[in-house]
Amino acid sequence: MIPPGATIGIVGGGQLGRMLAIAAAQLGYRAHIFDPHEQPCAADAAAAVTRAGFDDLLALEEFGAAIDVATYEFENLPVDPLLVLGPRLRPGPRSLAIAQDRGEEKAFIEGTGARVAPWQAVDSLDGVRDAVECLGTPVVLKTRRYGYDGKGQAWIRGPQQAEAAWNAIGGEPAVAEAGITFDAEFSVILARSEDGTHAFWDSAENAHSDGILRRSTVPASAVVLAQIEEARLAAIGIAETLGHVGVLTVEFFASPDGPVVNEIAPRVHNSGHWTIEGAETSQFEQHIRAICGLPLGSTALTGRQVAMDNLIGDDVESWPRLVAEPGLHVHLYGKGEARTGRKMGHTTRVTL
Ligand code: ADP
Ligand code: MG
Repeated sequence: MIPPGATIGIVGGGQLGRMLAIAAAQLGYRAHIFDPHEQPCAADAAAAVTRAGFDDLLALEEFGAAIDVATYEFENLPVDPLLVLGPRLRPGPRSLAIAQDRGEEKAFIEGTGARVAPWQAVDSLDGVRDAVECLGTPVVLKTRRYGYDGKGQAWIRGPQQAEAAWNAIGGEPAVAEAGITFDAEFSVILARSEDGTHAFWDSAENAHSDGILRRSTVPASAVVLAQIEEARLAAIGIAETLGHVGVLTVEFFASPDGPVVNEIAPRVHNSGHWTIEGAETSQFEQHIRAICGLPLGSTALTGRQVAMDNLIGDDVESWPRLVAEPGLHVHLYGKGEARTGRKMGHTTRVTL
């Protein structure tokens, strides 16, 4: 067990790192952020910050000497340099390596027996054309690496769009995935301790637009609830196979054929922000508990309904109205410039 008073290293200094640092502080831990940016928003909530590149071995070694356990809030990180942290990195490097490459991820998920959209790895325009022929349209091309919030993706709605889509994603190694017809999107978020103990939160139903999460609501609709049991089995199978320690998120499509895994995130997730006020233990606190070997907390709901809305880009300018709304929990990430598509904050309403 890593007792309160210890220092938790967090690689990545975005809003997830910030909310992890806040949860760590509440339990009496110190957070130490590692991030290359000038002013990572997590630094405001942390006891210490190292500003260095994610591949800076020397800086990572020094960071390793200053922390008792380390985690990451972001999966687009080079894996090898993090190996200097040894077994104190939780979740381990395998969770990171699988989740950061959409090709590895899909093959791995299929290997655990869970359902994914029909897909092919593509490395050339000919490969894209071949995939379109095999999978039919619509198809979505996604770069294997570095995609998030719908970035690095292009849809192909007919064979004549193959070239434009390949160019749109920059001709990078990619996966081509059949477009799934779904009734809803939802996520299963779980926490797993080193001894295999695990806990699920209720699943949120997630509404996206332009590839970005807008809203998560709990409880999910009936069509999602009917698929939760199977989805949880798939999610725990993934966590067990990875030997994952900490919070793991599995995004699903509720398709007419049952739950289809979209992607996994080896970390706390935007679709779990509602747990800060909507569950007895938030995903952030639970992650800290899991990586420090504390007992997992209750994930019971604190109300009948919870709705989390993201504040994206200049949505954040409505903060004066939002903070005046009785009972609305407003979270602002202190990020500065409200660029289009940038996640600037979120609000949560719990209905008792
Ligand atoms: P990101 O890493 O950007 O979150 P996702 O793979 O989750 O990427 O894609 C973002 C969103 O795009 C999904 O939440 C979903 O709304 C839509 N999408 C992605 N893949 C498919 C697919 N195969 N079929 C239908 N919709 C999809
Ligand atoms: Mg996603």
